[in-house]
Amino acid sequence: MKQSVKLIAGNWKMNGLSASLQEAKALQDSLNDSPVAVRVALCPPATLVAQMAWTLKGGTVAVGGQDCHTEASGAFTGSIAASMLADAGARLVIVGHSERRAGFGETDADVSAKAEAALAAGLEPIICVGETLEQRQAGDAVAVVSAQVMGSLPTSLSGQAFAVAYEPVWAIGTGLTPTLDQIEEVHAAVRAAMVERLGEGGRTAPILYGGSVKPSNAAEILAVAEVGGALVGGASLKAEDFLGIIRAA
Ligand code: PEP
Repeated sequence: MKQSVKLIAGNWKMNGLSASLQEAKALQDSLNDSPVAVRVALCPPATLVAQMAWTLKGGTVAVGGQDCHTEASGAFTGSIAASMLADAGARLVIVGHSERRAGFGETDADVSAKAEAALAAGLEPIICVGETLEQRQAGDAVAVVSAQVMGSLPTSLSGQAFAVAYEPVWAIGTGLTPTLDQIEEVHAAVRAAMVERLGEGGRTAPILYGGSVKPSNAAEILAVAEVGGALVGGASLKAEDFLGIIRAA
């Protein structure tokens, strides 16, 4: 099967002030000195998107948002439209992160609408799915994640640049990771659901793994079948840690 170039994306979540841009600069400087064959992106808080895009201008590290609204504009106080992220210099946007699904009640339909909004603004959506610990312990991980893929991917993704990120909720920020066999099983199911949903258009987009990826476990996770990259939280905040993951890919 044709594989797309791996994507290693960092999610800074609600961390980072303007001083943190020095980490993005250090990351880009290292990649300039010693380039890699993977795509690299950083998704800082919305307040830093424009500054980071400016800091990294002309470099290989792309900037992304962490969320966008479903609508292009309007009376949605505090929200950010995909076109605003694009205008600030973003090229990607994470949608449907489990922290948004759990903390803000986002449904698969909301996530699908956000992915559509991202595409309309010319952004590459990274669409997140993942089961809770209870769902895994009940033996429902594959069924839950497959249903999330079917419900969260708009058919308009076919032929567009996008990625899906499999992030088991119980592995995010906990230091816990699934076994490599569990990752392989779910990624295969995600691919099958992508193809069921999008036909041929679901065959090549990368499926990222996310959840406690660090320099010490990145190589073995990124070598699993159908793991097309990583979505990295905590370990993306420091250039040195993030580089350890990028260089393991
Ligand atoms: C995330 O929030 O997307 C994530 C994967 O976090 P961490 O790497 O810290 O587990």
